[in-house]
Amino acid sequence: MLEIGDLSLRYGQHLALDQVNLRAAKGETVVILGANGAGKSSLLKSIAGMVKPVAGSSIALEGRVLTGRPAHEIVEMGVALVPEGRGIFGDLTVEENLLLGAYAKRARNGESSRRAFVYELFPKLAQRRAQYANTMSGGEQQMVAIGRALMSAPDFLMLDEPSLGLAPVVVTELFATLRRVRETGVGLIIVEQNVKVSLSIADRGYLMEAGRIVGEDTAEALLRDPAVQRAFLGMN
Ligand code: ATP
Repeated sequence: MLEIGDLSLRYGQHLALDQVNLRAAKGETVVILGANGAGKSSLLKSIAGMVKPVAGSSIALEGRVLTGRPAHEIVEMGVALVPEGRGIFGDLTVEENLLLGAYAKRARNGESSRRAFVYELFPKLAQRRAQYANTMSGGEQQMVAIGRALMSAPDFLMLDEPSLGLAPVVVTELFATLRRVRETGVGLIIVEQNVKVSLSIADRGYLMEAGRIVGEDTAEALLRDPAVQRAFLGMN
């Protein structure tokens, strides 16, 4: 279980996260919804150790404290982030990008079988393993980013706006693949503007507004919630 308790984050005077409480179990898919600037990326970055939360914040994985640890230790403990914008190395090949994901000690054993799993999940990457990442389409680059994160053998995979800039058919394919990742027992935490698609694979969701969690429910209930439909699904 990944448990976030009273997580607050400041950028200077700006309170980007205000006492956020959230939990996700292994094998569960949780979606975080909210308007631009609500703090969704900041939440994922806090969990990943990329920004430092305010004292008193608590982030724990299976009871072990993650708060304040550097990013590489958090990967080592089993939590990986696919950042917004993907963060892959364009002048490296697909395979080199994947191998970079396996630097964690926890990932060294079983590296080749995990690579085979990533290539099975994304057959396009297998065909293009020697291609430079910056010559690939947006959807393929997103596959590289997800593949690289999976190479670290995560218990929890966090994705920040994975569908951003992708054509609808590519988004559908991507979420079908995430469903398969989820079936392997990995917990997924997804920040996503594409609310309908993401809730369709999720168990639960949280609503964020101005740095706070303002709602929490099952994915099914959220899809039926008139406020969610108005705010995110373009319904009246
Ligand atoms: P988006 O979907 O637009 O990325 P978000 O919900 O992910 O939005 P965050 O990116 O977490 O929101 O930003 C939350 C708030 O913190 C915003 O008001 C943003 O302007 C501010 N913020 C984010 N990063 C920084 C930073 N490095 N320095 C100062 N303020 C920041």
